Amino acid sequence: MPDAALAKKITKAVDDGFEEQIKFTADLTRLPSLRGQEATAQDFMARAYRDRGLAIDRWKIEVEDIQGLPGFSPVAVSYDDAWNVVGAHRPKNASGKSLILNGHIDVVPTGPLDMWSTPPFEPRVSDGWMYGRGAGDMKAGLAANLFALDALRRAGLEPQGEIYFQSVIEEECTGNGALACLQRGYRADVAIIPEPSGGALGSAQVGVMWFQVKVRGRPAHVAYAGRGSNAIEACFPLIAALHELEHRWNEAGHPAFAGTDHPINFVVSKIVGGDWTSSVPSWCTFDMRIGIFPGMDLADVRREVETTLADAARKDSFLANSPPEIVYHGFQAEGYVLEPGTAAETLLKQCHEAAHGKELGRRIFTGTTDARFFGLYAGIPGLVYGPTSQDIHAYDERVELESIRLTTQAIALFMADWCGVKAA
Ligand code: ZN
Repeated sequence: MPDAALAKKITKAVDDGFEEQIKFTADLTRLPSLRGQEATAQDFMARAYRDRGLAIDRWKIEVEDIQGLPGFSPVAVSYDDAWNVVGAHRPKNASGKSLILNGHIDVVPTGPLDMWSTPPFEPRVSDGWMYGRGAGDMKAGLAANLFALDALRRAGLEPQGEIYFQSVIEEECTGNGALACLQRGYRADVAIIPEPSGGALGSAQVGVMWFQVKVRGRPAHVAYAGRGSNAIEACFPLIAALHELEHRWNEAGHPAFAGTDHPINFVVSKIVGGDWTSSVPSWCTFDMRIGIFPGMDLADVRREVETTLADAARKDSFLANSPPEIVYHGFQAEGYVLEPGTAAETLLKQCHEAAHGKELGRRIFTGTTDARFFGLYAGIPGLVYGPTSQDIHAYDERVELESIRLTTQAIALFMADWCGVKAA
């Protein structure tokens, strides 16, 4: 941890750049980097990295390059415009430890616009919060990473370890952006991801799996509904059976999630089916997102889901002979527990206390983050630590400005100590 005088200089430098940082965060939030549309925002990040003299690596993700790697999730969409960007700070004679500062540029869909108080891609600041889709999850974090470096330089300091600023795509659906960074060869002594963690350190996260269930029925005129088989209504017992599995897993529990209420969540998040109101629907497809505990094997999970569906289908006279089909694309993500007590964690604790004036809390995630790639597949501690947000993935997503300022101070202090600094 930098000494008191140096720490004060650094935190003041963060404050001096904060107005510009908020403007940058708003400009980035204004770019609607929904899945498949991230390229403009990635250009913005590449420019910001280049302006700071970082070496730019901007590449298109190729499925063939990563599909054989652990942690890969299959995709049903095109990667024709799937760009990752890394900005590298490489001092001439690197003497300090190296650091990855990662963040994801992709944001989730807005939902019906009339449910937002103001348009999601027209960020606004009100009562100390910035509103906008992606403002908290996680463009504020992407900006904080970069403005931590700016602050050191404003204080006349140059980090003496390698720093890789990663702006990745696909965090919200597969994690293949972070995986592509590993495949590309990026490694460091620690990775920090300023996801909106409420100023706490993520100590465990569940795994996440996506799958799609396709059910076929038998069409008939509704006047003779008994002659048909309703594909939509046939899904109800299948969904109920999956919720029983969810219940069993929550009952079984996991030590890292003791004290967390209902860590495993199964949600039917999309459903389509049927063609005509007076026809018995002959098809229905639903998408489900399930949580899994760390340590659960993905192949075992898939088997258990399939057995659950097959058992439920057997109880239905039509589905018994026309079983549902299951397709996996999107998240096939394992859970991750942060190894406690690393040097990076100890330092982050000190830097957090210096910035916030209070102890660093720990947070259990019932969702996933890209931290798993660093921790599980590269032996790099993945520290999730970022600002305070509300209503991410919902309406009126917002991030608290004061928490951004303090997070940036903590990251800048961490950078100074971890990498070492020299007067520029
Ligand atoms: Zn996120």
